[in-house]
Amino acid sequence: MLEFQGRFATESACAEYLFARRWPDGFVCPGCGGGRAWLLQTKAFTYECADCGRQTSVTAGTIMHASKLPLTVWFWAAFLMATHSNGISALQLQNQLGLGSYRTAWMLCAKLRRAMVNPEREPLSGLVEADETIIPFRTKNDPVVLPARRSGVGKMLVAGAVEIDGGKPRRARLQVIEGFDKHQLHAFVLGTVAPHTRLVTDDWPSYQDIPAIRHNAITLGPMAAHIALPWIHRLFSNLKRWGLGVYHGLRKTNLQHYLDEFVFRFNRRRTRHAAFVTLLGIGARTAPAPYHVLIRKAA
Ligand SMILES: [Zn+2]
Repeated sequence: MLEFQGRFATESACAEYLFARRWPDGFVCPGCGGGRAWLLQTKAFTYECADCGRQTSVTAGTIMHASKLPLTVWFWAAFLMATHSNGISALQLQNQLGLGSYRTAWMLCAKLRRAMVNPEREPLSGLVEADETIIPFRTKNDPVVLPARRSGVGKMLVAGAVEIDGGKPRRARLQVIEGFDKHQLHAFVLGTVAPHTRLVTDDWPSYQDIPAIRHNAITLGPMAAHIALPWIHRLFSNLKRWGLGVYHGLRKTNLQHYLDEFVFRFNRRRTRHAAFVTLLGIGARTAPAPYHVLIRKAA
């Protein structure tokens, strides 16, 4: 954290980093391909092409573009969101960054959370455990009550899948669903896993006959689900604990965004310090540079 603080302490340090990621081999005009530009004095971190006059900001196409907040605040917020093992609430973010208003902190959180799904992510494949669960949700007055399994009328229903590699979980997916019927669960599986995946579920009939999926249904006694499907069950229980711990119970509004946040953190649990670039929307353009490489360059 101190290393990060030292590396990205000023606006120009953040801007230099953005420049280097955008143009690793030097400036290239997105309009004409020209390689010469002037840094404008009047607009922050914006370059004007010497050939065609087009102006390009280092933040163009990122989540930070046209924001009035300093780059240092964006970098810090993304770093805290990505590295905090449980995530961070808007109030915590406001305190940590010394932001003047809760509203600003909330907007930052909301924008960063929306950046947590990569639209080009690869489907799960190989061996995948899938199951569904009911999440008790919080309203202003109601206490959090966990209803009986699969009696989820009016509750928050979530489908989940975990990819297993060598007996260990790799990536996960979670999705809000409307019901536990065949239509909903088939759509979830087909949108989540690659063809010819070996899918392991319990013997709930809605999982049967999914096209192009090799399905292994396990008949469970009432207590055996966590043994037959250990990883998806661990994921669900961690999700519920996280929802209670960080948010004091998840709310129905924006539930999918919270699921995305949980999955983002789970899928990057071993590369958290490098994940901030993904949140800032600057990770996709070039191959991600591991954080220790950045530190070495700076030293
Ligand atoms: Zn140009």
